Amino acid sequence: MATTYVLDTSAFIYWMLPGGEMETVPAVYAEVKDERSRIRLELMEGLRVVEPDASYAGRVSEAARGTGDDKRISKADGDLLALALQEKEAGKDVALLTDDYAVQNLARALGIRATALRQKKSRASVVWEKQCTGCGRTFPDGETCPVCGSPLRMKKRPVTRGK
Ligand SMILES: [Zn+2]
Repeated sequence: MATTYVLDTSAFIYWMLPGGEMETVPAVYAEVKDERSRIRLELMEGLRVVEPDASYAGRVSEAARGTGDDKRISKADGDLLALALQEKEAGKDVALLTDDYAVQNLARALGIRATALRQKKSRASVVWEKQCTGCGRTFPDGETCPVCGSPLRMKKRPVTRGK
């Protein structure tokens, strides 16, 4: 069975996208306000933005009180856990991608597989930028080259782990 990945904000910021079936919640989508990250969101094929059912959110809050994580869990985190729980109980093979320790902890308590992102960062990280089709300069954003006026095209650039 193909794995469904539930993605938290850091997955978009680090561009750590597993491919395949990917889901996130509206609260995370709203959290990713950074322009480049939003471009990534829009480019992602197969990303579904799903609001989890309230009953799952209730079970997550209950579990958070049980583990003492309730103060450390944001609305977005809670929704991600609720979505992962919902998909798991729908019979899917789910992995929650998050770097947040409280979320990982709570995922374990709920029987959800949680995978951290940062360890793999050096291997697969890329950034998106726009490259001018005329002069070849690159820019973080825009449709038209401010230097020569040619159209810009999306381009992937691997990130090498720096100093
Ligand atoms: Zn140009």
